[in-house]
Amino acid sequence: MSLFKPAAWDSTVEVFNFQSAKKNSQNSVEKTNKNIANEILKKKQKNKVKKTSIKNGRIEKRKQKKLQKQKLIPKGLQRPVKPINSDDEDSSSADSSAESDSDGGIGSKQKVIKSGRIEKNKLKRVEKLNKSKLTEVHNKNVAAVTAATNELKLITPANAQFSAYQEKLKSQLVGGRFRFINEQLYTMSSQKAVELFTADREAYTAYHEGFRHQSEQWPFNPLKRIIKTIKNLPKTFEIGDFGCGDAELAKSVPNKVYSIDLVSAKPDIIACDMAHTPLKKESLDVAVYCLSLMGTNLKDFMLEANRVLKVDGLLYIVEIQTRFDNVQDFIQRLRSCGFQLVRKDMLSKLFLFFQFKKVQSIGKVAIVKPFQLKPCLYRKR
Ligand code: SAH
Repeated sequence: MSLFKPAAWDSTVEVFNFQSAKKNSQNSVEKTNKNIANEILKKKQKNKVKKTSIKNGRIEKRKQKKLQKQKLIPKGLQRPVKPINSDDEDSSSADSSAESDSDGGIGSKQKVIKSGRIEKNKLKRVEKLNKSKLTEVHNKNVAAVTAATNELKLITPANAQFSAYQEKLKSQLVGGRFRFINEQLYTMSSQKAVELFTADREAYTAYHEGFRHQSEQWPFNPLKRIIKTIKNLPKTFEIGDFGCGDAELAKSVPNKVYSIDLVSAKPDIIACDMAHTPLKKESLDVAVYCLSLMGTNLKDFMLEANRVLKVDGLLYIVEIQTRFDNVQDFIQRLRSCGFQLVRKDMLSKLFLFFQFKKVQSIGKVAIVKPFQLKPCLYRKR
């Protein structure tokens, strides 16, 4: 077609076909319009895709920021999204919470799945970091426990104070029980005392524990004086220790000692009331009563001493000085039981020490008036 002839020129008649020109023109306009419309449509679709991905990107970014805030993943890292069909089962609880967070952003998830491998690597790094976070937390806990233990160690003095208080309380209770039993022993007859200790063996133990504690407070132990005296006597002398307690005397002298008490705390101790012992008549050289004249029936004790002692046999008595209302009266009473005073000493202002000698056997049926000493009541500590 010539350049100067339009498409609607009808060369057969060499005239301009207006109808055809109009049609051609319409076709070409339509074509152009179609092209333009197609173009616009394409562009629109492209833009739509672009917009969606930008939008998804923004959502993704926001979620990452949120997770970073929760310290589930460190800055600069993608959040841990588990790829679909991943057989990586050992994800931590932090991971699973992140995953549930991502449920809303399905588009972004798909995008992440597309770049599966990179994501997986990142996920591994996140897990590693989470693990190290867990280790850090664990270490912190260990440190806290250690600190608490040290703190406990530090408060040990307070505990010690508490146990010291408990000890004090315990010793007060023991002391109280001791004083109660002690008072009973001083205010009842020896027959009753036997009944008391037979019924309650514990009472005896409590009494002795208390007595030992009490004697530790004294500036001087009177039994030591007796031991010293006996050591100066012939070793062949046979001795009776009446109300022996722990039988300390028998341990301390080379002589044969018959240890007697209400209860047998040791195998060598003869358990009986010293008013009636199994000892033979006039068998002993020495009879010892160290702080043991406790019952109200002193007459019975002294008549038994007279029975078991040889004539000229020695009688040693030590008692707390405050028990005596009238020492001379006591000496007189002993005289009526067949004993003569040899010497009397005051021991460290607290105790009275008597040495008597048996001058005659009077027999158990002798008419002797009953007598007793004041009870020795210990003060509350
Ligand atoms: N002589 C020891 C113990 C003194 S305590 C010392 O000096 O260490 C007094 C003791 O006398 C107690 O052991 C008590 O049981 C004992 N006693 C008191 N009355 C007694 C009795 N009737 N018969 C035997 N022992 C008695």
